[in-house]
Amino acid sequence: MIARVSLEIALRREFDYAIPPELADQVEVGSRVQVPFGPRKIPGVVTALAEASGQARLKPILKIIGAQSLVTPRVLKLARWIGEYYCCAPEIALKSVLPEAVRSLDAGWRERLCVRVLPFSGELPKLPKRQQEVWTRLEKRREIPLAELLELAETTAATVRKLEDRGLVEITSEISERDPYGLEQIIASQPLTLNLDQAAALAQIIRAIDTPIGTALPPGAVGVAPAAGRPTPAANASAGLPAAPQAKLAGSPEAPAASRVHPGTFLLHGVTGSGKTEIYLQAIAHVLEQGRGAIVLVPEISLTPQTVERFKARFSSGQLQTLVAVLHSHLSAGERHDEWHKIRQGRARIVIGARSAIFAPVEPLGLIIVDEEHEHTYKQEEAPRYHARDVAVMRGRMENAVVVLGSATPSMESYYNCRRGKFALIELPQRVDDQKMPRVRVVDMRQAKRDGKGVPIFSPQLKEAITQRLERKEQTILFLNRRGYSSALICEKCGEVCGCPNCSLALTYHRPEQVLRCHICGFSQQVPAVCPNEKCKNPGIRYSGLGTQKVEDILGKLFPQARVRRMDADVMKRKEDYRRVLGEFRAGKIDILVGTQMIAKGLHFPNVTLVGIIYADMALHQPDFRASERTFQLLTQVAGRAGRGDIEGEVFVQAFTPFHPAIQYARRHDFVGFYEQEIEFREQLKYPPAGRVALLTLKGRNEDKVKFSAEHVARLVQALGPRPKSDLAGPEPAAGGIADLMISGPAPAPLVRAENLYRYHILLRTRAMSRLSQALAHVTAALSLPDDVQLTVDIDPVDLG
Ligand code: ADP
Ligand code: ZN
Repeated sequence: MIARVSLEIALRREFDYAIPPELADQVEVGSRVQVPFGPRKIPGVVTALAEASGQARLKPILKIIGAQSLVTPRVLKLARWIGEYYCCAPEIALKSVLPEAVRSLDAGWRERLCVRVLPFSGELPKLPKRQQEVWTRLEKRREIPLAELLELAETTAATVRKLEDRGLVEITSEISERDPYGLEQIIASQPLTLNLDQAAALAQIIRAIDTPIGTALPPGAVGVAPAAGRPTPAANASAGLPAAPQAKLAGSPEAPAASRVHPGTFLLHGVTGSGKTEIYLQAIAHVLEQGRGAIVLVPEISLTPQTVERFKARFSSGQLQTLVAVLHSHLSAGERHDEWHKIRQGRARIVIGARSAIFAPVEPLGLIIVDEEHEHTYKQEEAPRYHARDVAVMRGRMENAVVVLGSATPSMESYYNCRRGKFALIELPQRVDDQKMPRVRVVDMRQAKRDGKGVPIFSPQLKEAITQRLERKEQTILFLNRRGYSSALICEKCGEVCGCPNCSLALTYHRPEQVLRCHICGFSQQVPAVCPNEKCKNPGIRYSGLGTQKVEDILGKLFPQARVRRMDADVMKRKEDYRRVLGEFRAGKIDILVGTQMIAKGLHFPNVTLVGIIYADMALHQPDFRASERTFQLLTQVAGRAGRGDIEGEVFVQAFTPFHPAIQYARRHDFVGFYEQEIEFREQLKYPPAGRVALLTLKGRNEDKVKFSAEHVARLVQALGPRPKSDLAGPEPAAGGIADLMISGPAPAPLVRAENLYRYHILLRTRAMSRLSQALAHVTAALSLPDDVQLTVDIDPVDLG
């Protein structure tokens, strides 16, 4: 027998190795192995077994890494799809599906020595004093870790060994599992009685769980607009190897799917506090009853102990008891190893984690939940550049698992898929506690500007509202999505801005340390005393724009009696800081919390009755087609922090473009209204979800080379698209040409220089993304670029900076 092995060095091909007889019954598809490659020994994954190889004289596999095959065939298939669709080497895709803590050669369980009392008959022999002392302790406990015993009895291992020699105890090596949440106290919780909306939502999800994908549901079972004819993408997918998720989900311009075959994916659109999590919990209970498991994805920032606890509490006891494994980047390597293997061994049937938890080896898988599905952190910004939400949809298809995407502000992509019948939409329009949505007031900051007094940070309205809250002993949250003190240092005379020497970006002034710092590369320098422009050297340099530090500072002056705290990446260096400040805020020890997007997400504080958004248009004018969508989402999320208790909340949105749709629809809590006007713009320009986008970036130290290479790549890509008009008289576009391919650029990236590298972009738009990915894979494989210029391909990019 021979094994086909994908090596963990990106060679874009697989190699055959002989399976030595002693390993014959252990090597299977998904096994991690070590193989010889030239003079080196390299780890890899077995992707297939075969009787014979085209090559003669194969080298043998050296050894197996880990006891169990680590990559299950299903996850292997998913990794293959990622490699193809996201246009990256299969080795890289395969590597990303296993955490480093599991892949590492010396990963393993932590073992420790335990001392156990052995049964004996007859009388205890007379023991020397020291041994007797140890024995007395042991008799009570029967079994105890050696290290603990040594400490308790203040003795040495030699004394314990003597007891072992007498046959009274045995010392064994046992696995001690690391539990990252071992110290949290879990109080078991019971399912709540659902309200009508929740019950209807759960019923739909359960019906889908009970119906294998691709089979017919009873008429009217799912709320999808009926349409005649075609089978759905889900039906196609279950028939064979699926293609790109959105090529099928959003890609084809054909009519909406037929209603009789249910989509396996739901979009659960419900405001914060509408009871989505309770639905997740009860849907998970349903798949557990069937002996299947679930994966719950949450954005890293929401992976708080409280979130994890809610899941653990529900499944900590009773008939459906199971371990809940947690996977995210704050765990130690050892903890990650243990959590992962608890899943692989089937002891943990529920996994909750950030982006990469979508690869957890849950088998069989019944349900995938992606909470806050609109979050951009689901996109991985290095190869493989996958989007965990889209991978979730694909994995659900492949493994016949139902997928539930939840959000208060769904992504344009997911809502579009609902409109086209590819996902089923479930709405939860009300909060469980019937709390009203906060009243949102938009403050026109242009007024202040017209008055000619310079723009104040706080409008009179907001100032007045804060004063009221302080008097009533209620709490306030102020939001500004920029840290630092002021956004730039500008010379009043020549207009010179202090910029980063490595990036095309102004440095931000940080007052406590008196430095200018770059928020891209971290470069910092002392604040100059005079204008850095050699020809100017004017001492009149001033600070412009604002950051959270300045807001904190001005607050202190306006409200000296208020207790103000700031929460941004500068003060929250560690996870404990974050927890501590939130604890203080909850305990009422803070009156006003100032922060960046860190405070926008999922925090519930009943005593917060005022939220102020200092500068709502800040993100609106960025050169990104999602600028409006992001602003809408952020405003809605931040506004949702107000009025979670008995008192109605109030939100002040300060803006220079108060009539911008993103601001106005957010003010009215009108997601659908926002969607309708935004989708028109996307349709016109063929931006997602109306089209699909791929972003090619060329980077290098030498700008001319980067520019030249970008032009070269653009010409190659041109050949993939339709012929230019002048050719139309000639033969039809070459077979395989992508008729709707639109190419923009090459052009300097909005951030043209970052960390000393120049960046040029080529933006591609088409509906046929999986075909484009394939074509790009060929182009990049054959491409030769100067050594110091790199090309990255980002399919469905999220960040266009
Ligand atoms: P979401 O996930 O949409 O923010 P949650 O599921 O967290 O909403 O629910 C918000 C609050 O309401 C939680 O404290 C939850 O325990 C409570 N809750 C949810 N559903 C019910 C219900 N059916 N009856 C009573 N309380 C509920
Ligand atoms: Zn920089």
